[in-house]
Amino acid sequence: MAFKTDIEIAREAKKKPIMEIGAKLGIPAEHLLPYGHDKAKVSQDFIKSLSAKEDGKLILVTAINPTPAGEGKTTTTVGLGDGLNRIGKKAVICIREASLGPNFGMKGGAAGGGMAQVVPMEEMNLHFTGDFHAITSAHNLLSAMIDNHIYWGNDLQIDARRVVWRRVMDMNDRALRDTVVNLGGVSNGFPRQTGFDITVASEVMAILCLATDLEDLQKRLGDIVVAYTRDKKAIYCRDIKADGAMTVLLKDAMQPNLVQTLENNPAFVHGGPFANIAHGCNSVIATKTALKLGEYVVTEAGFGADLGAEKFFDIKCRKAGLKPSAAVIVATVRAMKMNGGVAKADLGTENVAAVQKGCPNLGRHIANVKSFGVPVVVAINHFYSDTDAEVEAVKAYVAEQGAEAILCKHWAKGSEGIEDLANAVVKLAESGVSNFSPIYPDEMPLFQKIETIAKRIYHAGEVIADKSVRDQLKAWEAAGYGNLPVCMAKTQYSFSTDPNLRGAPEGHTIPVREVRLSAGAGFIVAICGEIMTMPGLPKVPSAEVIRLNDAGHVEGLF
Ligand code: ADP
Ligand code: MG
Repeated sequence: MAFKTDIEIAREAKKKPIMEIGAKLGIPAEHLLPYGHDKAKVSQDFIKSLSAKEDGKLILVTAINPTPAGEGKTTTTVGLGDGLNRIGKKAVICIREASLGPNFGMKGGAAGGGMAQVVPMEEMNLHFTGDFHAITSAHNLLSAMIDNHIYWGNDLQIDARRVVWRRVMDMNDRALRDTVVNLGGVSNGFPRQTGFDITVASEVMAILCLATDLEDLQKRLGDIVVAYTRDKKAIYCRDIKADGAMTVLLKDAMQPNLVQTLENNPAFVHGGPFANIAHGCNSVIATKTALKLGEYVVTEAGFGADLGAEKFFDIKCRKAGLKPSAAVIVATVRAMKMNGGVAKADLGTENVAAVQKGCPNLGRHIANVKSFGVPVVVAINHFYSDTDAEVEAVKAYVAEQGAEAILCKHWAKGSEGIEDLANAVVKLAESGVSNFSPIYPDEMPLFQKIETIAKRIYHAGEVIADKSVRDQLKAWEAAGYGNLPVCMAKTQYSFSTDPNLRGAPEGHTIPVREVRLSAGAGFIVAICGEIMTMPGLPKVPSAEVIRLNDAGHVEGLF
């Protein structure tokens, strides 16, 4: 059976002027700052004026551990938003913006898929409203000011070997991972080694996504640790005096972007931090604004629930004071089969036994999300090749876990295909059973926080770390950072640190190789495995076939 591609469907969208979409949420035209006809930012003043309003209900969409078969978290987030609107609820979608660089490596977008997409999808996946360019500029302004400070006499006594603030660019460019700067003689400064990360890995991105307003943004920027002196005293962005100018560059980027779904329902697309060295959720300001404007807000977290939902709860909700009412865990028959040992090439053949064998991965995520006090419903994102017997096997398994699994056909049919899930979500959210709390208290020592996540969420037997890692954590506790949450950076493919260990492994060891302080964002990153902060391009990058066709449309991107 031949299907239209995501971009073909998106191009046929009957978009409404963005002012009409804003009006649906009660945003007056003068408070929408249009970027063309189909995108707008919401004004700071309007957001401030909402503070006394009551909040709507927050719904998290998360998933099982990803497999190469694809799960469709964003597709389901968008579909559920449309589904809730269809059954008469005023629902707003909150998702992340896309990083531009990776689009030129592998085909794929971040706007959902099939009949459940936000538009304009090409723009959203490319320059959009320029937020990521602004973040790149703000980040690199600080980099330039650090080298400039050293050049002009280095009053702060920065140890050039201990500058931890790198440079960023929104491109997959492995050639820039490790670089030497300031070459060329006396007039160019003091040579030192550094490198580039991709923009979404910038701490500025994480800060923008956690800041509550411009004042909070500037304070957090000031808190960034940029370097150390020879005797290891921290030097802050504030000491370099870059925080004010960075805030100026980020002023517009801080405002949430409003777009629409294929069904003309409102969606905020704002922020996009890495899901490994950062928390992987859209901005707090967009989520909070949406909660003031809608009865329901549907948002998603990156990766599987072991990373995405855990960080959403323990970092974003904890810090922003959000209280989710329900969570949807997206699963697919195909991914259950892969977890049950079937190779990607054999996914098209019915195999109920493999589905059953893979289900414990889903079961673990259900129990984990419930352990935060948040009620769960499972969305089976229907693929064309799924058979009834396979779908029934997932439903039966989930029922045994004390939850319900609902077959959803939003990818093929839009909101019409996801009404059942929308009704189930409303029932859960309105039951008031949610009793959210993070799984560790602020005052727990940092290493114990890591152990709590590893044992309770990953079902690991132990966490191991060198003395240097433990000493570093103790030093940060002594410096007043002990109350921060931890941000786990590990493979998304498994509960363990071995990407090939699918299913629901028990008793494995989690090695913490390195810890990093993101003082401005407000978390400690625990790195368990190889983490890439500047991706490369594959041997045949999709950029080779991306072009404008005769009609002036983008081709080859999605
Ligand atoms: P995630 O957010 O989990 O990374 P997406 O929602 O972006 O996943 O979906 C990834 C890709 O899979 C998209 O191209 C989308 O069109 C496709 N996809 C999602 N759901 C389905 C489905 N039910 N059938 C076929 N393709 C799907
Ligand atoms: Mg996604």
